[in-house]
Amino acid sequence: MKYALVTGGSRGIGKAISIKLAEKGIFIFINYKNNDEEAQKTLQEIKEKGGEAELIKFDVSNPTETENALELLQNKLENNYIEILINNAGIRRDNLQIFMTDDDWNDVINTNLNSYFYITRRLLKNMIVKKAGRIINIVSLSGIKGTPGQTNYSAAKAGIIGATKALSQEVAHKKITVNAVAPGFIKTDMTTDLNEKEIQKLIPARRFGKPEEVAELVSFLASDKASYITGEIIKISGGIS
Ligand code: NAP
Repeated sequence: MKYALVTGGSRGIGKAISIKLAEKGIFIFINYKNNDEEAQKTLQEIKEKGGEAELIKFDVSNPTETENALELLQNKLENNYIEILINNAGIRRDNLQIFMTDDDWNDVINTNLNSYFYITRRLLKNMIVKKAGRIINIVSLSGIKGTPGQTNYSAAKAGIIGATKALSQEVAHKKITVNAVAPGFIKTDMTTDLNEKEIQKLIPARRFGKPEEVAELVSFLASDKASYITGEIIKISGGIS
């Protein structure tokens, strides 16, 4: 059996990815930070469909908490290991640069970018030893083109895009692929405050995407069939470029 860790797996895109990968027979560790109720619902949904999963609650922006949680996880797995890592947990704290507080900047960088480093560095060791791994980073169009009002978020996502390209070249010969998926507007809790009616006029497909559509792409990248795709940043945006 393969094991996957999906950060921010309790809701939205991470939830859809967790469900999709579990349907393929992969054991999912569903990470989340606060929302026990939604995490339990996701776990229940996976189990009802005959999948296997477990909750693993820790704050990905906190290096000590993350290290401790991953250490416990590895001890539990014994000779097995996390072969598929989905770095998905993320937050927005939008504001114009001139009004942005230190907290808004640091919270977004720590949660969206530094978490990538803490988790990936830790889990990479076993992937290298076992010579198999899939790392998929959920970034954003904001990291490619920049979004006004989101300098913190755009910087964090652009940072992961750079790391994706660099790491993919470090580990390709170890049969580990590293890719990023860059969604446009996807209908989740993260986008409920946006004016969907107005924004969808600007999207060539004229609608927000569904978390399940992102999950399909991630599931392919996580599969054996995607073994020659690495270092790519793949947009899923209904045509926004
Ligand atoms: P969401 O619905 O707000 O869900 C966020 C998830 O991340 C939740 O499971 C949340 O856990 C978890 N999380 C947040 N901070 C965390 C932390 N410090 N430690 C551990 N878990 C944490 O967001 P989403 O829309 O699914 O977004 C998922 C990813 O896609 C993010 O990286 C986001 O930047 C990216 N993205 C989203 C869109 C979009 O339109 N939705 C577009 C482009 C990129 P709790 O349930 O415990 O809060």
